[in-house]
Amino acid sequence: MKTAIITGASKGIGAAIALKLNELGYNLVLNYRSNTSSMEELINNFVNKETINITVKCDISNYGDAKKLIDEAYDNFGTVDVLINNAGITKDNILPLMTEDEFDEVIDTNLKGTFNCCKHIAKRMIKQKHGRIVNISSVVGLSGNAGQVNYAASKAGVIGMTKSIAKELGKKNVLVNAIAPGFIQTEMTDKIPEDIRNEMIKNIPLQRLGRPSDIADAVEFLISDKASYITGQVLSINGGYYM
Ligand code: NAP
Repeated sequence: MKTAIITGASKGIGAAIALKLNELGYNLVLNYRSNTSSMEELINNFVNKETINITVKCDISNYGDAKKLIDEAYDNFGTVDVLINNAGITKDNILPLMTEDEFDEVIDTNLKGTFNCCKHIAKRMIKQKHGRIVNISSVVGLSGNAGQVNYAASKAGVIGMTKSIAKELGKKNVLVNAIAPGFIQTEMTDKIPEDIRNEMIKNIPLQRLGRPSDIADAVEFLISDKASYITGQVLSINGGYYM
């Protein structure tokens, strides 16, 4: 049975990826930061009851916490086949009003958190001579977005990091890719005022927000044998919003 770690699995896209990987028969190491009840509810909804799931409540922006997450996964399962770096936050503001804390918190979670988990798993994946890493970036990391200087920088950074790690680890059979979702219906986008959201939808050729399951389906592909010659790529899933 294969094992996957998913960061930020308690809700939204991370929860959809967890549901998908449970269906596929993965043992799961599910990370979250605060929302224990959502995490428990998600596990109760798993259709496959044959797999083993452990939860690790920790802040992946903290180097030591991220090490604890990876250590717990290896202590429990011996091998980890897949790492999904999904945990992420927004702290939107226009540049003149953006505080240093708003910038630092978003970079620390989205960019450094991804580094922390990749860094701590790298030696182990090299040693086991296989692994798949999928980093959740964003369309905003490709296009930029007014009011999201911090978030766009963090997500563009994730793309550069993904390509660099793919170059380092390819010869060890560790494949590393990024997904750049467009606007997906989760609590993150629920925060956007309705009039602005409706305006955004008008600019999406498919005329709707994405579903978390749209991202989970792409993860299924990228960790499958069908994607065994794909590394260092950015897969855009955005309804045609940005081409
Ligand atoms: P969400 O619904 O707000 O969920 C975020 C998840 O990340 C939660 O499980 C949260 O845990 C966890 N998390 C946040 N900070 C963490 C930390 N420091 N350590 C550990 N876990 C942490 O967000 P989402 O919309 O599903 O987004 C998931 C990912 O997709 C993010 O990286 C986001 O940037 C990216 N993305 C989203 C969209 C979109 O439109 N929704 C578009 C492009 C990219 P707790 O709730 O327990 O704190």
